[in-house]
Amino acid sequence: SVLTSPLPSCNQSFFKSSKLFESVVEGDEVKCHRSERTNWSWCLFLVQGSPLRHSLVSGIWEIKVECTIPKDDGTLASYVGFRIQHDNARGPMKGGIRYHPEVDPDEVNALAQLMTWKTAVANIPYGGAKGGIGCNPGELSISELERLTRVFTQKIHDLIGIHTDVPAPDMGTNPQTMAWILDEYSKFHGYSPAVVTGKPIDLGGSLGRDAATGRGVLFATEALLNEYGKTVAGQRFVIQGFGNVGSWAAQLIHEAGGIVVAVSDITGAIKDNNGLHIPNLLKHVKEHKGVKGFGGANSIDANSILVEDCDILIPAALGGVINRENANEIKAKFIIEAANHPTDPEADEILSKKGVVILPDIFANSGGVTVSYFEWVQNIQGFMWDEAKVNKELKKYIGQGFKDVKEMCRTHNCDLRMGAFTLGVNRVAKATVLRGWEA
Ligand code: GLU
Repeated sequence: SVLTSPLPSCNQSFFKSSKLFESVVEGDEVKCHRSERTNWSWCLFLVQGSPLRHSLVSGIWEIKVECTIPKDDGTLASYVGFRIQHDNARGPMKGGIRYHPEVDPDEVNALAQLMTWKTAVANIPYGGAKGGIGCNPGELSISELERLTRVFTQKIHDLIGIHTDVPAPDMGTNPQTMAWILDEYSKFHGYSPAVVTGKPIDLGGSLGRDAATGRGVLFATEALLNEYGKTVAGQRFVIQGFGNVGSWAAQLIHEAGGIVVAVSDITGAIKDNNGLHIPNLLKHVKEHKGVKGFGGANSIDANSILVEDCDILIPAALGGVINRENANEIKAKFIIEAANHPTDPEADEILSKKGVVILPDIFANSGGVTVSYFEWVQNIQGFMWDEAKVNKELKKYIGQGFKDVKEMCRTHNCDLRMGAFTLGVNRVAKATVLRGWEA
C-alpha cells in the first residue's frame, strides 16, 4: 500500500510497526482534512489505527474500511463501512452507526457535522461523529449482521474509545448491534461498556434510552407549543416513519392526548381521521412487521403522507423527504424534525414564507444522544439510575435547550433553525478557542 503523510512522526515505519497494520486491506483508508489554520491542508493514510492521531492531528477524519464476511451460504461478500469524526473540541465524538443501502461518505459526513452541533445545542460534553455500512440489514441474517459488525469493529477499534469516539444506534442498527461492538472492542481493550451507548440494559444500557429520542420529541414539541399557548392534547399529528423514533413518539404523543391521524413505514401508510389507536397499532406492527393492513384504518399513498391535513407533521425517517416537490402542499403549521435532515434548504425557504414553524433536527431529536450521555455517565460512575431520573433529567435538558435556542432567536432575530445552529456553532467555537486551537 502507498502511504502518504506530511507528518514527520507518522511515517511508514511507524505504521508498519503498528499492530493494526496487518488488518488493513487494499481499499481501507483514513483521511484527515485539516483546518485552514494549519500548514497541512489534509493528509491521507492508507492505513488505520494511529494511536497518535489525537495528539498530532486534529480535523475531520474520514475512516473508510472494507468489510468482507462469509455469508451463510459460504460465499464471500464485501461491504464498505465508514466512521467520520467531525469535531472533538467539546469532548469525545459521539454519533450513531447506520446500516442502510444508501450510506455514502458525503451523507455520513453531513450527519457527523449535525452531531457536532446537536451535542453542543444539547449542552452535553461531546463532539460529533457518524458511521455507517452500505448494506441492506433486512436482507442479512442475524449471524451475517453479527459477522459484519464484528469485522467493522475489528477495523475501527483503535479509532473509537470511551474518551475518543462513542458510537450508538442509528437507522438499521439496534441494542444488539451495540452489544456486538462492545464485545469485539473489549477483546482488544478489556471490558469497556462506555465505548458504545444504546446498549441492551443487561450490558450497561440505560433505562429509558430506547424511548429517549421519541420522548425528547414529545418534550420538545410541548416546549414549542407552550410558546403558542397550546398543549399536545387535541393536536392532530402525522408521523412519517414508524421505527424506533416514530413509534415511540406516536406512543408518547398518544398518551399525552395527541391525535395521531396518519403514520407510515416501508410497508405503507395508514390514516384514520378520528385518530389511530396507537397501542393496538404497536401490537399489529409487532405481529405483521409493518403498519400495512392495520384494521380500521384507511390505506393511503405513502408518498402523500407528508401533505396530509394535520396540525403537526413529524418526519421520523430518512433525510431530504421535505423538498421543493412537496413543500408547497404541506398543510401542517408545525414541523418537528425527528429525523436527521428531513427538510432540504429550498423547502425550508418555501415553508418559512408560508409561516410554517420548524423545530430543527439538531434540537428536536437530541433526546437520543442526551440519554446516550446519561448512559455513558452511568457506565463511568458504575451506578445505574432509575428510569424516572433519566426521564426527569431529559426533560430538564430539553427544556433548557429550548430556552437557549429561543434566546439566540431573540438576540439575532432569526428562526429556530438559525437559532439552534448559532447556539451550537458558538459553543463549539468557544471550546475551540479555549483549547488554543484557533487564534
Ligand atoms: N443516532 C442518534 C442521533 O442521530 C443517536 C446518537 C447517539 O446517541 O450517539 O442523534
